[in-house]
Amino acid sequence: MAKIIDGKSISQQVKDEVKEQVSKLAQEGVTVTLAVIQVGADPASSVYVRNKKKACEAVGIGSESYELPEETSQEELLKLIDTLNERPEVDGILVQLPLPGHINEQIVLDRIVPGKEVDGFHPQNVGCLSIGKPGFVSCTPAGVIQLLKRSGIEIAGKECVVIGRSNIVGKPMAMLLLKENGTVTVTHSRTKDLPSVTRRADILVVAIGKPKMITADYVKEGAVVIDVGIHRMEDGKLCGDVDFASVEPVASAITPVPGGVGPMTIAMLMHNCLESVRLSGKAK
Ligand code: NAD
Repeated sequence: MAKIIDGKSISQQVKDEVKEQVSKLAQEGVTVTLAVIQVGADPASSVYVRNKKKACEAVGIGSESYELPEETSQEELLKLIDTLNERPEVDGILVQLPLPGHINEQIVLDRIVPGKEVDGFHPQNVGCLSIGKPGFVSCTPAGVIQLLKRSGIEIAGKECVVIGRSNIVGKPMAMLLLKENGTVTVTHSRTKDLPSVTRRADILVVAIGKPKMITADYVKEGAVVIDVGIHRMEDGKLCGDVDFASVEPVASAITPVPGGVGPMTIAMLMHNCLESVRLSGKAK
């Protein structure tokens, strides 16, 4: 029986710690504020934005909400970002993706000053991660590291295999595991004989975007399996990229979906907002 890594309770620990720090800062007269921008009314985006605002409220971080119409031009959006960049009381700026097709996402994300770009997608933040300088780290992979550490799973010296090489999950995940002294292999859609590579893993992180693709055949006996995937099935239930029923009997520890990696993403966003205040020198 694998140990179930409880993302709900670990994310709550992270949020409780952030809340405590935010409240200490408040006593020194320092506030923390996140500006959240949504363009259009994509229902999934609206849910994510609502959850982010709720999380801010729960930890005592102020949030400013900008809900812009679908037809907002790129120039208008960039102008808003320029204004938020300049306002010292705004510590973090988040643009909910995806943006409507007429707006170039990379141009928009690059416009946020790196010191306020709490999603960790800005090229400067990505670069800082790769050379080990302070900066913001993409929230989902940062959350995976917290899940491992807070579950007492040693990363140093372990064979770590990441499936997926996206800029948001796979690549920063690999950099973070490397930073923790893991021996890291990154696999992707062009990897030959994927199971033979993934079966080397002591720690297997799966971020493919394919429901239940990873079965026991891909997993070494006793491996730790982290499932980043999230999919809603026809019956309305959620599942991950890992076939939990098949893999759980061979793994030593595994994250469930829901209740594994998912809740960590918002918790790490809250952590990044707090970090923003520290990095800016606004707080000691
Ligand atoms: P993506 O589509 O950008 O990247 C998928 C990666 O998987 C690619 O690098 C591709 O090379 C690789 N891949 C595709 N098919 C493959 C195959 N057959 N064999 C090996 N590799 C293959 O996806 P993403 O943004 O990295 O997200 C991955 C999953 O994680 C999705 O299910 C997404 O919904 C989920 N996700 C969850 C959270 C969260 O908060 N829990 C956050 C981000 C993404």
